[in-house]
Parts: sequence; structure tokens; C-alpha cells
Amino acid sequence: MTAHYVPENLPEHIRHYIGGAPADSVSGETFEVLDPVTNKPYMTASAGKAEDIDLAVAAAKEAFDHGPWPKMLPRQRARILNKIADLVESRDKQLAELETFDTGLPIKQALGQAQRAAENFRFFADLIVAQADDTYKVPGKQVNYVNRKPVGVAGLITPWNTPFMLESWKLAPALASGCTVVLKPAEFTPLSASLWADIFREAGVPDGVFNLVNGLGEEAGDALVKHPDVRLISFTGETTTGETIFRNCAPGLKGMSMELGGKSPAVVFADADFEAALDSTLFGVFSLNGERCTAGSRILVERSIYEEFCTRYAERARNIVVGDPHDPATEVGALVHPEHFDKVMSYIEIGKTEGKLLAGGGRPEGLDTGNYVAPTVFADVKPDARIFQEEIFGPVVAIAPFDTDEEALELANNVKYGLAAYVWTADLTRAHNFAQNIDAGMVWLNSHNVRDLRTPFGGVKASGLGHEGGYRSIDFYTEQQAVHITL
Ligand code: NAD
Repeated sequence: MTAHYVPENLPEHIRHYIGGAPADSVSGETFEVLDPVTNKPYMTASAGKAEDIDLAVAAAKEAFDHGPWPKMLPRQRARILNKIADLVESRDKQLAELETFDTGLPIKQALGQAQRAAENFRFFADLIVAQADDTYKVPGKQVNYVNRKPVGVAGLITPWNTPFMLESWKLAPALASGCTVVLKPAEFTPLSASLWADIFREAGVPDGVFNLVNGLGEEAGDALVKHPDVRLISFTGETTTGETIFRNCAPGLKGMSMELGGKSPAVVFADADFEAALDSTLFGVFSLNGERCTAGSRILVERSIYEEFCTRYAERARNIVVGDPHDPATEVGALVHPEHFDKVMSYIEIGKTEGKLLAGGGRPEGLDTGNYVAPTVFADVKPDARIFQEEIFGPVVAIAPFDTDEEALELANNVKYGLAAYVWTADLTRAHNFAQNIDAGMVWLNSHNVRDLRTPFGGVKASGLGHEGGYRSIDFYTEQQAVHITL
């Protein structure tokens, strides 16, 4: 194994960013952030509490009520968003290094995520300029038009997987729409978020438009959700956290967008392009360390190709390179945190009693410390098994056979989640019918998980509430007022 790479100029401490200036917590409290390769603390972050959220929301409200941002022409805001995209792009290597160090993601994949973050800003810059609202005429009687206005202060709460990119997915449409924001990044991985402040200042975002408070979910996150001056919460994270936030948004009827967990199926029919399906289903669960909401973590395979698929899949999984996240050869790095590592390992132990272990099953050889997990494949997993039903969020996959289209659909839908689905078949009619009947917010037919930013992103059932993506994101961050004029 290569020596563990530590980026130069790592901060020893990171602070909040409130009203255009760095700030420590009023209480002075901090929390430790761990390096997932050594599990040693490498920096502290200010631990935000309700009083810090109060200050951040007050700054955001002041910038919304009296600042230029919500009143700017879309073109003016778009110019700034494009500058943000340029700055993110020009720092993509630094961003990827920090993200890799903080999260344990393989460096090549972290670089791709930094570039996606830049693209999110460009996309919403374009969209807000091209935004057109409806007008309805009743000839000779009435003209009615839609007047779109930013909602106000938006609270953005994000998880630790691909944190910088996921933050951009909320920040870009919120800012494009004219909202001001308070971001509460995940406490496991606050490092890359600390770069936003400089990027926004350099791009010309006025003070108070972007605010960031670090801290624990139950403290800073909870206070943000409950703050009366926060009009919207956009949340990405676990389903159980989403349910708590849902309850806490009820007083004051806050707007909510919830992007939650998943246990997405990849369905491989016998007539599929076997090699393409093999490649894609491996990538679908083992890229990003398996710590991805849309992971195809259940693979359903038609019985006539089942044995061959399982054998070939396990062979490939055993050859995946696990190692130091910074090594460009690494395909699976270190899981984010020892708590999460323990959770994934406990599912692997459960899996050993529920399915046939074909690959992995614990730590990879030679990696005795750090949160490393060998890509793990279980076959013959029954639909009621916990590893079939529950989100593991690591490099662990459950494979099961099916005999008919009906059985495949039943197995695919037989979980509480409904985020993504992947279908592999040469039969187009079957593919489209499957997409129609499957409980999933997003379906990829004969394809990797490739996003088109104009399409809806979100889940059904326990995977989420509401959809972002394209104009849906702008709809979420804006009010649509109807104006009626009698002629
Ligand atoms: P999490 O729910 O534990 O935490 C997410 C964020 O919520 C963190 O910032 C956390 O501090 C905060 N939080 C926790 N409790 C809170 C509370 N009571 N009030 C307010 N905020 C609170 O999730 P995680 O472990 O960081 O992320 C992994 C989960 O996110 C997985 O379930 C994954 O599927 C999901 N996810 C979903 C999507 C999607 O788009 N659907 C994308 C990425 C991740």
C-alpha cells in the first residue's frame, strides 16, 4: 500500500461563516473531525448551536429583506453564478484532494464530483436567465400572469457523501432563484464546505446571502429546521432523519424538499448485453465506495444467466483495487467514519447468515487499519433478508434470481424505498413497461447512472418527497403569485 497522502495547508480549525465573516460558536465549543484512513482527529470545527443559527438566519434575513440579491435581474445573478462555476472549476484539483482526504472517496471520483459541482452552477445560471412564466388571456376580459418571487431564507442540510457536490445541488438553484441561505453541512465531512465562503466572496456574492454553520444535526440542524424565519428546508440524508425534520417543519408550514435513502434494484434480463450489464452493475454499487444514494445495491438476475452472472461478478469484485483514497489506482477508498464502518461491517456479518458470500466479507488483506471494506457480494439473498431490505450504504451487494418479468417486478418493488432503478434488457417494450410499473423516482434503461440536470431528481415511497432538478428546483425556491388584470 502507498503511504497515506496528506494535503498541504490543511486547516487545524474551521469556522462558521455568517454575514460575510468567519465566526466561531458563541459557546466556543468545537468538535473533532477524523481522517478516515487513520481515524485520528486532524482538525476541529466550530460546533454551532441554536444561538449561532440565530445569528446566521438573522444575517440571511437581513440580506433577503434589505440586500440587493433577491431584487437583482436574473442575468446579474447568473453572471455571479457563472463566476462561481469558473472558480470551482479552477480549484477542482484542490477541492478533490480535500474531499478525498476528508471523506475517503477515491481521488479520481472526487475530481469528477468537483467538476459536477461547477456544472450545477452553470446549469442554474442558464436556467434562471431562460426562465419564462405563464400568461393566460381571456380575450377582451382579463389578462392573468404568474409573478415569481424568491421564497426567503432557505435552510440547506446536507449529508457526508459527495458533500461538496451535493451542497452545490442545493446552493445553485437557491441562489439562482434569489433566496438567501444557511447551509449546515454534515459533521463527518465539513472540510470542503469551508471553501465555499472564499469562492462566493471572490465571485461577488453580497454578504449575508450565503451563511454556513457547522455542527451536529441534533443541535445546529435541528435549530435551523425549527427557526421561524427559515421558510424552506432542503434536506438530503437518511429517511429517519427526514421523518424527524418533516415533523419539525409542520409548525409554520415550511416548504420541504427531501432526498432520502435508497435500496435500488438493478434488473438484468437474459437478453441483456451481458458485459455492459456486468460493468455497470459493478460500477453502480462499488463506485463512490458504495456510499451513494442511488447505488444499485440489489441485483436481480434472470435465472438462465444467474450462475454465470454471479461467478463473473464475484471475480470482478475481487479484483477491485481497495486502497489509499489519494492513490489514482484506487477504486474503493476508506469509508467515511468508524461509526459508519462498524455499521457496514455489521451488515456484512448479518449477510453471512442470510446469503452465500461470493466475494469480500470484511477487511481487505493488508489493510489492517482505517475504514477499509472489501467489495462484498452475497448471492441467493431472499427478499425478506435484512441485506435485501435495508440501506447499507457501503460496498456490499445482494444478488437474487428471478424466473419471470412479474417476479422481477415484484422483487424490485418489494422494499420501502423507491429512489432509482436500472433495467438491462434488449427488449424495448419490456424495458418501457418495467419503467412504467417500477416504484422508483428515476429509472435508467441499459445505462449507467448518468444524470441530465433538466430531469426530475427525487424518490418515491421512503426515498423522498418532492422533486428537484431543472425548473422543479426553481419552483421549490420561488413563490408563484397569480396577478389578475381586468381589461
Ligand atoms: P443523516 O440523515 O444522518 O444526516 C444528514 C444531515 O442531516 C447532516 O447534516 C446531519 O447533521 C443532519 N441532521 C441529522 N439529524 C438532524 C435533525 N434532527 N435535524 C436537522 N438536521 C439533522 O444522513 P447521512 O448519514 O449524512 O447521509 C447518508 C444518507 O443520505 C443515506 O441514507 C443516503 O441514501 C442519503 N442520501 C440521499 C440522497 C438523495 O438524493 N436521495 C443523496 C445522498 C445521500
